[in-house]
Amino acid sequence: MLDIKGLMPTSLIEYPNKIAAVVFLNNCNFRCPFCQNASLALGTETAPSIPREQVLAFLKTRKKWLDGVAITGGEPTLAGDELIAFVREIKALSLCVELETNGSNPELLRELLRQRLVDYYAMDYKAPLDDYERVAGAATIDKNRIKESAALLIAEAPDYEFRATVVPGLFDERSALRIAQELKGAKRFFLQQFQARDCLDASFNKLAPFPPKRLQEFAAIMRPFVSEVGVRGA
Ligand code: SF4
Repeated sequence: MLDIKGLMPTSLIEYPNKIAAVVFLNNCNFRCPFCQNASLALGTETAPSIPREQVLAFLKTRKKWLDGVAITGGEPTLAGDELIAFVREIKALSLCVELETNGSNPELLRELLRQRLVDYYAMDYKAPLDDYERVAGAATIDKNRIKESAALLIAEAPDYEFRATVVPGLFDERSALRIAQELKGAKRFFLQQFQARDCLDASFNKLAPFPPKRLQEFAAIMRPFVSEVGVRGA
């Protein structure tokens, strides 16, 4: 079900190099302890849902000033076919679409790629596959699905990035090396600085983020394997 819980009229940072509106969808199948959209992830957001028609009408009035729309969450692919229909309606307004995903739904990504509906994919690749449950806070994760989603984007996406939030205790030099090896040949990866506030697991609000220099060191470890490695928020 496409449950829209938020609409940010304009963002200059969510969709790289584009002025974009941001649409927030409810619910997620992961429980990353550092998640800053906890109420969306848990499905406990009390803000009223926004009808899809209302969002599309808004986008229609603003499309002269926007390049595109970023769809985030929560995990947008949980909306299934309703997400595909929604993206199609946005594209009909001649707006670009960025989809942010945790990569757990390769079937839906395959269909979006087949229909060439999304212009930019931003997929979390949170940890080496053998450490995924710990970092994503889920009891079991089918890592083959994460792997399959990543391979699909590398092979078929018109443009994309992978990214990970770099959290002390969950990420280290080994993480950087293993992730880069697993994504060898990928186009772009961003290491995102952890923000110690509003975390899904409140104990993470007390963690001190890594100094920026450490993120640059992680980036240097990844560069031999991934074409472009950047650091965000540090
Ligand atoms: S950070 Fe984790 S829990 Fe939060 S929305 Fe993304 S995948 Fe879900």
